[in-house]
Amino acid sequence: MKLSDRALEYRFWQDAVYEKDWKNALDFLIESLRDELVFDNLAIYIIDENGKRSEIAYARAIGREKNAEADASWGEEIADKVMLKNEIVFDSPSEEESSSKRVANPYLAGMPLMASGKLIGILSLIRFGGPVYTQEDISVALLAAVVIAYIFEKRALQESIIALEKVQRQMRLQDDFVSTISHELRTPLGFIKGYSTTLLRDDTEWDEETRREFLTIIDEEADHLTGLIENILESARLQSQTFDMNFQPLRLDVLVRDIITRVHARYENFEIVFTNYSEKIIQGDNTRLAQVFENLFSNTVKYAPKSKIEISIKNEDGNLLKVSFSDSGAGISEEHLPFIFDRFYRVPDQPKKAGTGLGLFISKRIIEAHHGKIWAESDAKKGTRFIILLPTEQNN
Ligand code: ADP
Repeated sequence: MKLSDRALEYRFWQDAVYEKDWKNALDFLIESLRDELVFDNLAIYIIDENGKRSEIAYARAIGREKNAEADASWGEEIADKVMLKNEIVFDSPSEEESSSKRVANPYLAGMPLMASGKLIGILSLIRFGGPVYTQEDISVALLAAVVIAYIFEKRALQESIIALEKVQRQMRLQDDFVSTISHELRTPLGFIKGYSTTLLRDDTEWDEETRREFLTIIDEEADHLTGLIENILESARLQSQTFDMNFQPLRLDVLVRDIITRVHARYENFEIVFTNYSEKIIQGDNTRLAQVFENLFSNTVKYAPKSKIEISIKNEDGNLLKVSFSDSGAGISEEHLPFIFDRFYRVPDQPKKAGTGLGLFISKRIIEAHHGKIWAESDAKKGTRFIILLPTEQNN
């Protein structure tokens, strides 16, 4: 019987090929492989897209020298030889070497992991103190290598599907964005055009008060338009990673207090409770951080109208400032919460409000540029809480 036919009689690979999770699949495979093949340690290396051997992808120590799992670097040399020759490689010590220093002189075997005719990784096997690998052992190991290559191909496929789904989601959001943004741009333009045409009419005289009122609307709508366009341009710029920051020492509590004064000037009836427990200094970009808080306030106006806002700033372990910004609005449902910081994302089941889905995306990027973190917690009916962590200057 040919060795390849003989190999097909083995059944150790069956559980592995039906298992979805790649790590479990490898665990199943290695467990049952041990019934057919003697080895003490096993390591799998994957070749990255640049053709380089990457970190160890999987290692198991089964035999007598169990401690060798952590120290899987023994497999690297043989793996490199396999990469060079693109074929099975054996490294066997002389009998004398092996019997005198078993652990220092193991029997090594390296198998190429091939998928679609390409070397995608290496399987390295180790035996302390032999015996030498037989033809039968090799055919079993080769079959194991085929199954392992299949498992890693499947993993790559699963990863591509996840990446693709993300792109699809992004494209859907982008489509929604185009219709949202055309509406968002048209509304202020409509006001500007309407009021200026009215003012320019030859057949009507406007009193000073009305003229001022119309011009104020035009002025505000032009500002609105500018803000909108800036957001769009900024988010496009952020896609290519450029972000100009002007870091200076600043007090976050002072910045927040300033914004609260401005918010109060615009929305008189807004109840804002600010509790400050920290006057620590941070390194920050004043304008950018103000943008983050202004967006949080404007979101509360839109999505949690009439709700009370509670803000607190506290010192947190590890030289951090923790800002908590909560409203008592309708909240964000669990299924949408993970996505609200994505570009263009808008929670679909909320009453329609003006917006582009860019504010939180930009805010997150600003906080990350400060080496901080921002996330949201929400309890249906209890409102939404945004948390921001920012590093403080050491020793203050
Ligand atoms: P925009 O307000 O322009 O849509 P954002 O990026 O600022 O964009 O917010 C993304 C989405 O998160 C909003 O469309 C809204 O659905 C949701 N959201 C943000 N803040 C709140 C809040 N305080 N309460 C409920 N939903 C919110």
